[in-house]
Amino acid sequence: MVVGLGGAAGDAAAAPAAALIHAPLSVEPAPIPRPAFESALAAARDFNALAASVAADHAWLEATLAPAAAAGDAFTARLLALRRGTARTPPTDLALAVTRADFMAHAPTGALLQVELNTIASSFGCLGGCASALHAASAARAGWGADALARLPPNTAKASIAAALAAGAAASGLGREGVILFVVQPGERNAYDQAALAEQLWAAHGLVTVRATLEEVAAKGRLEGSGGDGPAEDPRAPPGGRPARVLTYDGVPVAVAYLRAGYGPGDYPSEAAWAGRALLERSTAAVCPTAAWQLAGSKKVQQALAGAGVTEAFLAGAPGASPASVAASAARVRSHYAGLWSLDAADHVSAASPDGRAALAALLRDAAARPGAFVLKPQREGGGNNTYGPALGAAAAKAAASLEAGGDGGLGAFILMQRIEPPSHGATLVRGGVASDGPVPCVSELGIFGAWLGRGGDGEGGPPPPPLLNEPAGHLVRTKPAGADEGGVAAGFAVLSSPYLVG
Ligand code: ADP
Ligand code: MG
Repeated sequence: MVVGLGGAAGDAAAAPAAALIHAPLSVEPAPIPRPAFESALAAARDFNALAASVAADHAWLEATLAPAAAAGDAFTARLLALRRGTARTPPTDLALAVTRADFMAHAPTGALLQVELNTIASSFGCLGGCASALHAASAARAGWGADALARLPPNTAKASIAAALAAGAAASGLGREGVILFVVQPGERNAYDQAALAEQLWAAHGLVTVRATLEEVAAKGRLEGSGGDGPAEDPRAPPGGRPARVLTYDGVPVAVAYLRAGYGPGDYPSEAAWAGRALLERSTAAVCPTAAWQLAGSKKVQQALAGAGVTEAFLAGAPGASPASVAASAARVRSHYAGLWSLDAADHVSAASPDGRAALAALLRDAAARPGAFVLKPQREGGGNNTYGPALGAAAAKAAASLEAGGDGGLGAFILMQRIEPPSHGATLVRGGVASDGPVPCVSELGIFGAWLGRGGDGEGGPPPPPLLNEPAGHLVRTKPAGADEGGVAAGFAVLSSPYLVG
């Protein structure tokens, strides 16, 4: 099983430049209750529809995220500005998304709770599929019976994600004339997960992939057919119609821009990188994802969606929603919500707490007293950003004191989340070719990929049209030692695994 991640986080520089290393993996699959797996799978289309509906509501995104941006989150502020400055035009512009909803079981209740919904650079579909195949092959070799083998679900992630990108290419009007542009990080360490997808795009769809960083997009990208700003136009416009804003890279038309970078501030080392992102956003390529979709996957949005009636309202306004389906859809989604709290006093206003300060201070005093029951999260992706345990307790106590003294607490750019307590299971972890000394206590996180393709931009001009694609798109299990707070594979905390369905 391939490769390319370097060793654990931090020692990539020490690895020989030309060497490959296997991705970290678990020898055994991870036990996942079958009802939980099926419930997460059944909610995949709902989570996609919800995010699409949020992404289309620019006014709500502004109202929800601008306070967090103003509270010191320059990256979110920049993404909001990007979306504002490059508004994609309904009904022609395409929004393509490869999502991954991440879950962990909460042992005290047995509920499968959502950790987060990723709407940008949802990775490890292909290497996760390798883990599934490896576990199935070794189980067969070990002589597992038919019942046990049937507990290893086939993983369609590679085929499904490639099919989604191909659908984007077809809808772009360019089809096989256009390439799929993989937008990657400089010195990308997860290139092999992406390479398998590029192979699949060629083998199954005859589509060519080109890789570029955001800075390279700025240097070699052009919008053909019209200059300057203004609304994007339909590349399928009839001859003689207004020229389209087709993105070209190095002179080659781009059907799909697939971002595997751009999710964190480190991906924008220069203004050129932001210019590259804006070029994508202004083009008629199927952008995966648009800035609006990226914002719809932010932690603050996740927290706001948990508010009374908010999920229901967005599902009711989702592309293709029918009134009859909304309640069931909302129930599927809400059954996976963990406790989520805003840390902006304005969201805690009540008769008892007219400016919200006292109510928020009480919440933070509770978090300070029980720091193990919560996670403190900024608006960041990519792992390693959250605060846990004693550091969370100290931050909560400081914020509470600030609020009690009439300040704003200073945590408005963060959210507070219930800490999920996943059940422990044994797993033998292999990193850098070295296996742990037998199974060690571990916990596992289940990811369900989803694929979405739709048209429509800002929710004006009537209900959005039904999506062109809304499907589950495979799964991923990541396993980490029971004591570890964080969970990223690329970040060096977790290893790849696959589900073994129990019950
Ligand atoms: P990121 O966008 O950086 O991946 P996540 O919200 O996924 O942020 O958090 C990173 C990791 O931290 C998760 O993969 C998970 O292992 C752990 N984590 C996040 N939220 C919780 C939670 N509420 N309870 C327990 N662990 C969590
Ligand atoms: Mg995550």
